Amino acid sequence: MGHGVDKPLVGQIDRWIVAHRDDLIGRVRDLVAFPTISPPGRNTGDAQRYLADWLRSLGCAVEQFEVYPGDPDVVGRLPGDAGGGGRSLLFNGHIDVAEVATEGWRDEPFAVTERDGRLYGRGVCDMKGGLAAALFALQATLACGDSPRGDVIIESVIGEESGEWGTVACVERGYRADLAIVPEPTGLRPCGQGGVITGWVTIQSSQTLHDAVRARTIHAGGGLVGANAIEKMTRLIAALNDLERDWAVTKAYPGFAPGATTINPAVIEGGRHPAFMADRCALWITVHFYPDETWEGVVAEIEEHLRRAAAADRWLRDNPPTFRWGGRSMIEERGEIFPAVPLGAGAPGLDLLGAAHAAVRGAPPERAMWPSVSDAGWLARAGIPTIIYGPGELAEAHTTNESIAVTDLVDAARVYAGLIGAWCGLAGQP
Ligand SMILES: [Zn+2]
Repeated sequence: MGHGVDKPLVGQIDRWIVAHRDDLIGRVRDLVAFPTISPPGRNTGDAQRYLADWLRSLGCAVEQFEVYPGDPDVVGRLPGDAGGGGRSLLFNGHIDVAEVATEGWRDEPFAVTERDGRLYGRGVCDMKGGLAAALFALQATLACGDSPRGDVIIESVIGEESGEWGTVACVERGYRADLAIVPEPTGLRPCGQGGVITGWVTIQSSQTLHDAVRARTIHAGGGLVGANAIEKMTRLIAALNDLERDWAVTKAYPGFAPGATTINPAVIEGGRHPAFMADRCALWITVHFYPDETWEGVVAEIEEHLRRAAAADRWLRDNPPTFRWGGRSMIEERGEIFPAVPLGAGAPGLDLLGAAHAAVRGAPPERAMWPSVSDAGWLARAGIPTIIYGPGELAEAHTTNESIAVTDLVDAARVYAGLIGAWCGLAGQP
């Protein structure tokens, strides 16, 4: 894309990336060597310092701030060329990686192994590869003597794998752009995503009863009104199953398989001891919703449905369930939220991204909905037009022997460089 005058410049940047692909692989190798597993987290300081140094070497103004002790966010901002007035572009990637199984790795997970055109190691795909590709695209642009006319912002955030608000911390500090790219592994397809919220449904009895009086609470003539909170929770689980089925039949969104709006009873905790009737039961659920829904709306639907189910039960009517939704961290609060990302035809940046992709891959990409969730939702919720687009296949994320094709990694950097030029505009440096 772009004007005739841009084309030779873009071609030069593209050739630079291809010629320097080993440098990109080396960057991924360096990043993977930091074992930034989350949970437990609190271990990204060294990796983030490495990225801060890299960003500084590109001339970015770098801000580093702790979200949790030992878990700082890093944001690099390269101000647009003074005469420019180009549009700003933000890349956001998470530096933490999913936990690693102790057995089954053919190679050391925190040392990249290259074999048959693929890189192996924890995080190569999700998503140190994509994050490195974004920085490398900016590096290539600058190395070729060009500078973006609009601001380029690169965020390396913590805690995504644990639902922590690393990206929210960047939003709260005021970072915005005209377009955001999240290089999660979408197989180089521009994607939106559905949203997720977790919640706790709790049944708390107003009385604590001995196991020995159970007969009086369940049999004719017992005369004691009481209940077992675990058993009552089964009524609410059945009600959630009904609602989930209703959603599957009545809700739909292009790009999703029918019934993607699931309500998963993920964890249950209840009872205190065999000598008691269970007086408390808490259910942790995971709720998926479509891009045209908000978590507030979905939560209201669930609460309404469960209140009605409870009202139909003599005991639950007097001991209704309570709710606690979301959270800033699975580690600290046992809760998380990922807002959705709508991505319709004609979304800002989609055409230019598609053209940059086509220039590298020979055909336009297929727009899709990513079946997973990412921090892209927080950027979209902050009002930034956001596209998830990155190298690697989602099926590789979190797996033992996680890998990425070197071609895809390099092509991602080429597409990002093309997008920087097309979206921000380029000014040749004096
Ligand atoms: Zn990820």
